[in-house]
Amino acid sequence: MSSAVKFEQVTKQYGDFEALKGISFDVEEGAFFGLLGPNGAGKSTLINAMSGLLVPSSGQIRVHGCDVIKDYRQTRRLLGLVPQELISDPFFSIRQLLELQSGYFGLKGKQQKAWIDELLHRLALVDKADAITNQLSGGMKRRVLIAMALVHKPKVLVLDEPTAGVDVDLRHTLWEFTKELHQQGHTIILTTHYLEEAEALCEKVAIMQKGEVKALDTTSQLLASHPFRYVRVSFEEANPDLNEALASRLVESDASGHLFKVEKEQTMSEMLGMIHSSGLQVKDIRSRDATLEEVFMQLTGAAQA
Ligand code: ADP
Ligand code: MG
Repeated sequence: MSSAVKFEQVTKQYGDFEALKGISFDVEEGAFFGLLGPNGAGKSTLINAMSGLLVPSSGQIRVHGCDVIKDYRQTRRLLGLVPQELISDPFFSIRQLLELQSGYFGLKGKQQKAWIDELLHRLALVDKADAITNQLSGGMKRRVLIAMALVHKPKVLVLDEPTAGVDVDLRHTLWEFTKELHQQGHTIILTTHYLEEAEALCEKVAIMQKGEVKALDTTSQLLASHPFRYVRVSFEEANPDLNEALASRLVESDASGHLFKVEKEQTMSEMLGMIHSSGLQVKDIRSRDATLEEVFMQLTGAAQA
């Protein structure tokens, strides 16, 4: 598999502060790749460096073999970036912005117009196509940014926290659309701090923390390599007295019961034996594998921001 993006020893220094501490990894062509990490981990810095918006202090980034600095123009054509910050243009309508963006890439004519119409349609922007962008809601602005990123049909689509502050409906629309682009062969790179979203969409994820990559693997492998399973138990008693064995495995308690973690090597019957010998009456019990959020917390030792 050839790589769509290749990071080699990328660093970024802001004065004494190291925002990126030597990042090296590849994103394979056609992948749906997730870049995860708490606020301040360096995700946007890395993505902006990949998009040529900022120059790394050292190291190299290639997009389909093109150096993002030396071959800036080629890279711009290969890549579409949906930035984290929203736009607010006081002069241009949505359609005008898309036409301007097309012009930047030298794209015009009937076919391009049809593609702009399709983007407006797919992103439910048709009704607002002639509205000035600073009059739009946050969700609308996000959709405009996505349309702008896709105007030149880039091979690699990079989305930086596209669903932050977006309502549930739009979130689903965006995911259906990005999934479709992925199926058509686009490489998708997504940063998000919604880990359920990454778990559902991304085949592979890199987990960043403090400018470093803490883990990089397929989502299924990361989940499989997590050392615990989870068992949720609700007891007949409202406030049961947990014995020491159970208390040591308790992750959290809430109105719906208690969540315990169990080493994967341990058999379920050992856990059931432990519950049985506590003498408590069980109302309901469910077991499940770890979620990406739990893997993340195990790796970073921090709750997700
Ligand atoms: P993320 O996108 O993962 O939340 P960022 O890449 O935006 O993180 O930021 C990484 C770190 O670099 C943060 O600590 C941030 O404060 C710092 N940083 C980002 N841009 C600048 C800048 N222009 N000057 C100084 N520090 C910056
Ligand atoms: Mg960011």
